[in-house]
Amino acid sequence: VEETYIMVKPDGVQRGLVGEMISRFEKKGFKLTGLKLFQCPQELAEEHYKDLKSKSFFPKLISYITSGPVVCMAWEGVGVVASARKLIGATNPLQAEPGTIRGDLAVQTGRNVIHGSDSPDNGKREIALWFKEGEVC
Ligand code: ATP
Ligand code: MG
Repeated sequence: VEETYIMVKPDGVQRGLVGEMISRFEKKGFKLTGLKLFQCPQELAEEHYKDLKSKSFFPKLISYITSGPVVCMAWEGVGVVASARKLIGATNPLQAEPGTIRGDLAVQTGRNVIHGSDSPDNGKREIALWFKEGEVC
């Protein structure tokens, strides 16, 4: 079954939006298979976003993701990777459609409240990166 890694970023946790975001994936019909609150170490943030290492915003991105606890989630279901990206909305929340998580709950690209894997391969890679064996059902 296809799986994706979804993460509520530190601003989403701090603003009390965790339940709202989980609810959207539950209502859609996907299956939650992993869930934890976690303070991300710098090295893990760098590994997770390694494809963006050359970007000018990379240092800011790493300090954002490590600025407070995140909520790590694994979700599974048919087509879950692309569907979750649709539920999340565009990277820039000002361009994200109303009705999407970023469209409804965020205004800044650098504080866009949630992450979703961009391919089934990355879904598997990221779940293996963020969860230990036995933490995912
Ligand atoms: P994510 O991977 O977090 O789900 P995404 O796939 O929509 O987001 P990416 O291109 O993978 O977007 O960028 C990863 C994250 O880096 C973005 O979600 C955002 O937090 C940050 N980011 C991307 N572009 C910029 C930018 N121009 N300025 C500041 N931060 C940025
Ligand atoms: Mg991405």
